[in-house]
Amino acid sequence: MLRSVILAAARSSRVERLVATAPLTRDVVRRFVAGTGTDDALRATRALVADGLAVTLDYLGEDTVTGEQAVATRDEYLTLLRALAAAGLTPAAEVSVKLSALGQRFDEQLAYDNARAICVAADQAGTTVTLDMEDHTTTDSTLDALTKLRKDHPSTGAVLQAYLRRTESDCRELAGVGSRVRLCKGAYSEPESVAYQSAREVDKSYVRCLNVLMSGAGYPMLATHDPRLIAIGEDRARWFDRGPGEFEFQMLYGIRPDEQARLAGEGYTVRTYLPYGDDWYGYLMRRLAERPANLAFFGRALASKK
Ligand SMILES: Cc1cc2nc3c(=O)[nH]c(=O)nc-3n(C[C@H](O)[C@H](O)[C@H](O)COP(=O)(O)OP(=O)(O)OC[C@H]3O[C@@H](n4cnc5c(N)ncnc54)[C@H](O)[C@@H]3O)c2cc1C
Repeated sequence: MLRSVILAAARSSRVERLVATAPLTRDVVRRFVAGTGTDDALRATRALVADGLAVTLDYLGEDTVTGEQAVATRDEYLTLLRALAAAGLTPAAEVSVKLSALGQRFDEQLAYDNARAICVAADQAGTTVTLDMEDHTTTDSTLDALTKLRKDHPSTGAVLQAYLRRTESDCRELAGVGSRVRLCKGAYSEPESVAYQSAREVDKSYVRCLNVLMSGAGYPMLATHDPRLIAIGEDRARWFDRGPGEFEFQMLYGIRPDEQARLAGEGYTVRTYLPYGDDWYGYLMRRLAERPANLAFFGRALASKK
């Protein structure tokens, strides 16, 4: 019910105008999105890097339905990567890419070609690309693209979602030398046939996956704001003798900034996921619609900086 209300609101331009101009919304947007253009992204990146944080930038796009949109998204990433390198912000800043924004839903080959062009530009800029993970119907296609991209661009990173039943096994596959894997809980509404449904089951899966990655030979990227999971990550780093350059924590821009600073102050690598782009409205609404529990997630972030 709540989900369909949010989705209906996401489609309404009247609601968009109302939401976009409401004072609270502007605060929410400013808190979670760097801004609309490349310059805004650079400004926010510079500030985060000056605070000792690493960054991964996500160019926000609406659901890409044409080849022109997909190519325009690719081109924005190419522009961004050149600008980051020119500003001396690489390798501290890398980019996160959604294959759906590059055309995956209607032309997998086009999405792959676009992703490869971004990987080439990232190499030239002295940094890396991480492929975001979307709903479970795209997991195989995204992991196939990753395998192909890693042949020429071995540092290309993957995202695995602990709520999926398959993920512990995917972690085993991807725990080898040179493999960069971001482990998150997962943000989409998924059926019981493929995903754990309770928070407890998801957390237990996260810990099992974290153990596989931290005991493996790759580079784990622990993406969570959950204090218990962060503490377990710190514990396993000691247990498996992983120094600060051998794994990292990741959190979203605007969420628990004090905790991000604390971990960076302890000497850990902490990477902030920084979205920017015109389509911030769709981004925020889709987050809420995918998982209405995120209403509380954003609400908590506004109420607390901890
Ligand atoms: C860097 C990054 C990249 C991501 N990439 C993807 C992706 O590619 N695909 C995907 O499906 N999902 C992605 N996600 C989203 C992720 O899957 C989760 O939906 C999201 O991170 C919320 O899960 P959580 O682990 O933070 O824990 P939650 O279950 O949301 O929260 C657990 C606990 O964390 C604490 N907490 C959470 N938020 C706050 C807050 N605002 N203030 C204070 N305490 C808080 C609270 O104690 C809370 O009980 C990404 C997340 C991050 C951080």
